[in-house]
Amino acid sequence: MKEALFYRKRDDGKVDCTLCARYCKGVPDGSSGFCGVRKNIRGKLYSLVYGKACSLAVDPIEKKPLFHFAPGTECLSVATVGCNFRCRHCQNWEISQEYGKIEGKDLSPKDIVGAAKARGVQGIAYTYTEPTVFYEYAYDTMKLAKKAGLYNVWVSNGYTAPEAIKQASKYLDAVNVDFKGDDRFYRKVCMAPGLQPVLDALLEYKKRRVWTEITTLVIPGYNDSQAFIKKTVRWIVDNLGPDVPYHLTAFYPTYKLTDAPPAQEALLEKLYDVARNAGLKWVYLGNVTSEKVSTYCPECGQIMIERSGYNTIYYGDRCGKCGAKIPIAGKKWL
Ligand code: SF4
Repeated sequence: MKEALFYRKRDDGKVDCTLCARYCKGVPDGSSGFCGVRKNIRGKLYSLVYGKACSLAVDPIEKKPLFHFAPGTECLSVATVGCNFRCRHCQNWEISQEYGKIEGKDLSPKDIVGAAKARGVQGIAYTYTEPTVFYEYAYDTMKLAKKAGLYNVWVSNGYTAPEAIKQASKYLDAVNVDFKGDDRFYRKVCMAPGLQPVLDALLEYKKRRVWTEITTLVIPGYNDSQAFIKKTVRWIVDNLGPDVPYHLTAFYPTYKLTDAPPAQEALLEKLYDVARNAGLKWVYLGNVTSEKVSTYCPECGQIMIERSGYNTIYYGDRCGKCGAKIPIAGKKWL
């Protein structure tokens, strides 16, 4: 347990949490905010999941997915229980939604960094559940990880408040943010108050120069219209630029969202064309067998990063055939 970094005390003993865009107001003594892992104890807000890692695993960076950041490297993934969303299609619902008590191994930030070094990975990923809700734990771990020469990446739903992003960005190298759907989708499927906080977070990451990639999990009948993908991509291009990698991944029925069929490859291929035609240079498909997982030279079509499953071969950021350059972040870890 650790006192929260972002909250306001009130005269009446209640607290206002300012960590995520839900901004839980007036949390009374003895109660938790929406995420269930931040509790008011006698007028102070505490993170209940500090030092309580419920998942620890080595993953390729491509699994996050991050395709233009330190390609081919591995990271230690860490999570705690809890989430500030209630997505009906959550793939990690056992740890993000179904927790009655705070479960996890007692592992300090130092333990996590030690485990990463012992496994010989190049970085740490704060993932599986929303890193914002275990912010203090992630933040202290990121600080130590940086000192140890490791990178830090988040996989996030984009609901972190801008002030918290500003502080985290001192140690955060890259982030993959979900762009789940339109405003209605956030309200209906995620029980979240709309899309705007995600747009604000993406702009803040840009301002703080954190390498950013974006993912949309395509769910037939929910967020698979060409108009939605076109609008999303136009926003990305206009506000973040055409070089932001965009991942379109295929949905499979899971948890409480079982009334939609799996997304077929043909659908993703169609949306791939929409995204490319709307101006993004780096669009990738996920959860399907497709050659649109590799990176090709935009000038001559030569393969520059070859991906097959989670096997990655990185040939460098300059095309061996025509010399064109592609954007790659985190090169110091290659
Ligand atoms: S982090 Fe948790 S307590 Fe804080 S505003 Fe978000 S949901 Fe509410």
